[in-house]
Amino acid sequence: MKTITLSNTHTSHILDILAKQKTYYRSGVTHPLEVRRANLKALHQAITQFEPKLVEAVGKDLNKNSFEAYTTEIGLVYKEIRHAIKNLPRWMKPKKYTTDLHNLPGASRMYPEPYGVSLIIAPWNYPIQLMLSPLVGALAGGNTAVLKPSELAPATAGVMQEMIDQWFEPEAVAMVQGDAEVSTFLLEQQWDKIFFTGSVPVGKIVMEKAAKHLTPLTLELGGKSPVIVDDTADLDYTARKIVWGKFLNCGQTCVAPDYVLVVGRERADRFVELLEKYLGEFYGESPMESPHYTKIINDRHFMRLSGLLEGTQPVIGGQKNQEQCRIAPTVFYPVDLDHPVMADEIFGPLLPILPVDSLDRAFDIVLDKPKPLAAYLFTTSRRNEKRFIREIPAGGGCINNVVMHVASSSLPFGGVGPSGMGEYHGRASFDAFTHWKGMLKQSRIMEMKMAYPGKAPSLKVIRKILS
Ligand code: NAD
Repeated sequence: MKTITLSNTHTSHILDILAKQKTYYRSGVTHPLEVRRANLKALHQAITQFEPKLVEAVGKDLNKNSFEAYTTEIGLVYKEIRHAIKNLPRWMKPKKYTTDLHNLPGASRMYPEPYGVSLIIAPWNYPIQLMLSPLVGALAGGNTAVLKPSELAPATAGVMQEMIDQWFEPEAVAMVQGDAEVSTFLLEQQWDKIFFTGSVPVGKIVMEKAAKHLTPLTLELGGKSPVIVDDTADLDYTARKIVWGKFLNCGQTCVAPDYVLVVGRERADRFVELLEKYLGEFYGESPMESPHYTKIINDRHFMRLSGLLEGTQPVIGGQKNQEQCRIAPTVFYPVDLDHPVMADEIFGPLLPILPVDSLDRAFDIVLDKPKPLAAYLFTTSRRNEKRFIREIPAGGGCINNVVMHVASSSLPFGGVGPSGMGEYHGRASFDAFTHWKGMLKQSRIMEMKMAYPGKAPSLKVIRKILS
């Protein structure tokens, strides 16, 4: 499929959509609870109608089977929609705050105000979920939205375009496809909110563009998410969880375990044996042919990952097929910090295992790297668990699991610093697309005249009131 680039018709089409959405938003149509709920219901119905086509499309783009397409993409969006429809009345309620003595009589409240016209830019690795989950937040928050899917998952983008065009008026929700040039043009326009999911380098570009208009911004980025396996962890259980979470979607998951630090050399040896056992159990003898194993998105990413394999001798896997963009689940062991796989986010099916002498050393290694999107600990020690939560900074994470904190409608998800800013999912998605406006309502009875020039009794009294 040909990539959509920026041409003159495209720019005028984008500007036309933006102008329509601005007018539509300003009319106030998107604000009422009933409209927000109706939009969310329409999105649910739209996905239900297009589900078979969406499943087929992610199959084409990423070789995802229908089970994976439902569990990691579509099912999560349905859940987010239902959660929002149910909880919207509560989320939309103004919040009461106490009023200071000097503002009495009066009432202080925060009111949820939609940001307005939003831009949502998505990556290719979970092309449905990462496009439509933020949209749930935008609609729940009473915004309009322009959606820019990734050009690297063109089949999915095509079906989502058809779905959005059929179910929504462009002044409410519109999709604009295209590459980085189209994305750049979109980012140059003035939005009320930008929600970006993607890589750290592009995240920096997005932030620069948003800074130009001081646009509120959520950045959902990536990074190297570590796993620490301490000397009390159940290795068998840990190996199962890590094989599942790492090789899901061929390692192309933003919160996939990037590298594993195992305390104790002998335990690390045993752990690698267990990884091999569970890889065999989950994907069979030829994982690249397994119906449960996806593919690398494109040749560029295949070449990038192949570069990391060059000159190395993995203890498990290492096989590849360029024509099919496939790389077998691969484990490097033992790895030290100078290994090329330890430099940047791997974002593929390569897993380095680093044996370490102590938990302190594992913590130091993690702390020396930029704050990750996720951090994981496998342990049976309450003490180590508490220490991990207190000392390891990260966007989020799990104890005794990987990835699953993302699949929750009640737990906010996001990065910190280089792995992102802002959160979403459930109520946090509503908040991501909402400005909480603090308002004081002053009663006109008993007007406080002390602030007026020459009316204050004495500084001593004022000090008392303001203290
Ligand atoms: P990417 O940053 O290359 O692309 C993301 C989006 O930005 C795409 O729509 C793309 O068209 C657009 N884009 C690309 N270059 C651009 C530019 N120069 N200017 C403006 N827009 C541009 O990311 P990707 O390769 O699609 O996705 C992989 C990355 O995303 C990984 O780093 C991964 O960790 C991260 N990710 C994060 C999350 C999260 O929730 N935090 C989820 C999925 C992926």
